[in-house]
Amino acid sequence: MSLQKSTILVTGGAGYIGSHAVLALHQAGYEVIILDNLVYGHRDLVENVLQVELIEGDIEDRQLLDHTFKTHHIDAVMHFSAYTYVGESVTNPDKYYRNNVLGTLTLLEAMREADINKFVFSSTCATYGVPKFIPLTEDHPQNPINPYGTTKLMVEQILADFDIAYGLKSVRFRYFNAAGANPDGLLGEDHNPESHLIPLVLQTALGKREYISIFGTDYDTADGTCIRDYIHVSDLADAHVLGLEYLLQGGESEVFNLGNGNGFSVNEVITAAQEVTGINIPVKECDRRLGDSPVLIGSSEKAKNILNWQPKYTSIQEIVAHAWRWHQKRHK
Ligand code: UDP
Repeated sequence: MSLQKSTILVTGGAGYIGSHAVLALHQAGYEVIILDNLVYGHRDLVENVLQVELIEGDIEDRQLLDHTFKTHHIDAVMHFSAYTYVGESVTNPDKYYRNNVLGTLTLLEAMREADINKFVFSSTCATYGVPKFIPLTEDHPQNPINPYGTTKLMVEQILADFDIAYGLKSVRFRYFNAAGANPDGLLGEDHNPESHLIPLVLQTALGKREYISIFGTDYDTADGTCIRDYIHVSDLADAHVLGLEYLLQGGESEVFNLGNGNGFSVNEVITAAQEVTGINIPVKECDRRLGDSPVLIGSSEKAKNILNWQPKYTSIQEIVAHAWRWHQKRHK
């Protein structure tokens, strides 16, 4: 069977990163089915842009999962559904452990029952916690400092154990800061509420916010603001297709960082946004945000070497320009 005849179930395929992965899979010739509860996902993007089958429902619904696996021949699952607000995970951990851990366990049990043994998982650099060295490599100790990171680490551990016990093969991707949007303006980031830097900066450029808060200007970095590794969402999507193909070709379970390898400070992101938009963006210098590391930069050499992955969009101007094209269209 050729790989392109494979059918992939994408949970959370109506969300930000998931929708870009669905597009990349579709363009690579795969059959795709989306399972999404549409709490944060967008039906209009599935219906108007992605145009693949949408099963509206929850990963915690075992009956729905069993029915889905009985009525469709699924070769592998790509799992994006998760709650991702770090702050909310601290104040409402129940929601995070229930959905991110219990929901994923339910999905994995249903897969086991249906003899599906290939799984691509969205993990995060938040599983590392406070960096002991930069750039972070996959063997950096994992000590998450918030429940969100802990839920992702727990799933990583479940996957390792399921491989040993049941032969479930997984690729676990630890993303750095997902950013940007499909270069053709078809898809992009649309969180409600929004907490990420680049969309907030662009909403400020659009006049939807009075100013962008800079959380801390006294860090031990060149300009005093935090440095992050912004990785273009279409590059993330490409990595998922490569990770899937690695598994479909019989690859063993693996974990890969996905980052750009370049760090950009909050000030550099705002400057890039001013250049791209041609708009003066008001800023307000604020106190540090709790739990922020001064610098987070990942090494993605492993993904480059083993998966042959090469990020295409590594300049912050390009990442912001793609996000801007989307924001102008979506939020006008
Ligand atoms: N940040 C900021 N102002 C904002 C939102 C974020 O200064 O309104 C900073 C934040 O402190 C961090 C960086 O921008 O250093 C990226 O934050 P984001 O929430 O986008 O991603 P995170 O790194 O927390 O996953």
